[in-house]
Amino acid sequence: MQNLGEFDLIQRYFDWPKLGPWSSQGVGDDCALIDIGTSRIAVTTDMLIEGTHFFENTSAYDLGHKSLAVNLSDLAAAAATPRAFFLSIAVPKSDPDWMNEFQKGLFGLAKRFGVSLLGGDTVRSVDGKITVSITALGELPAGTGLTRSGARVDDDIWVSGSLGGAYAAVQVRYGKWKLSTESYRRASERLDRPEPRNRLGEKLLKIANACCDISDGLLQDIGHIMKRSGRSCELTYEAIPQDASLNALALENRKKALLAGGDDYELLWTAPRDAREAIATISAELRLPITRIGRVVESEEDTASIRVLSRETLLDTGAYRGFDHFSDHENQR
Ligand code: ADP
Ligand code: MG
Repeated sequence: MQNLGEFDLIQRYFDWPKLGPWSSQGVGDDCALIDIGTSRIAVTTDMLIEGTHFFENTSAYDLGHKSLAVNLSDLAAAAATPRAFFLSIAVPKSDPDWMNEFQKGLFGLAKRFGVSLLGGDTVRSVDGKITVSITALGELPAGTGLTRSGARVDDDIWVSGSLGGAYAAVQVRYGKWKLSTESYRRASERLDRPEPRNRLGEKLLKIANACCDISDGLLQDIGHIMKRSGRSCELTYEAIPQDASLNALALENRKKALLAGGDDYELLWTAPRDAREAIATISAELRLPITRIGRVVESEEDTASIRVLSRETLLDTGAYRGFDHFSDHENQR
């Protein structure tokens, strides 16, 4: 039998019709948006597995931070205000020093974003590996919330912060790339302590037409928006904001980090042209760089295509597909 990719697996086996009174907009967005009476909540869940999502020697503090950060980031993509989370954790042994550090990383971030831990599950792992799974809940004004669908022809495409740093840190840890001490420190910060963009996300609620966070690589994640929206897009390669840690890398490596590198947890969204001024104001208020990297175009037939132009020349982006847990493509981490 053919090897199904991550998204084929989800679509084929887990995209199930509604079976009870609660429903959402369906699988495929960063969060499920659920109406309960007159309220709407956003719910997301993300699991981190040792050896796949984090290196064996990752500090407990960083793991605590990142496990929550990646979930808050999905709430940011939906423009929901984070309110609470549930924590399930499997550890090989009960080590108070490790737990102490994990707690510091986890609650340091939870406190900054005002989210309470309301429950979870704690078990011993039998394979010696650590797994952390968090489910996060956020609140939205009734009937609102951002999804990956909704991008319109002629929308601008925007991205927050800078891209590629987290990917560069991963490549250094695999011994494949070399960075200066300072660049590696910076790149590691992006990988180990991503900053969820919730304040930005909330401000985009009334501005963006479609939004997601970048966890699997720019091209893959913009592809999700385009597919869900039934649109195509054109990106300007030179406009993509590059993390400063990439400056000294060879061109090809930079390209890979920018287009296919995941784990940056920046927001990626589309918005009408007349929102440019409002977006510039948000960028100034949050002191967060925000860059316009392309525009949405009509799809030819039914296929969402992503064209990346570099100095008017079309780039061949076949090798930059981004992360898929079940792909054996060489792009994988
Ligand atoms: P993200 O990177 O934002 O966490 P994913 O790419 O992991 O999102 O997932 C894509 C979509 O598929 C999401 O809407 C997610 O909720 C859904 N999904 C993933 N795995 C499952 C599953 N096992 N059952 C139901 N839905 C799933
Ligand atoms: Mg996401």
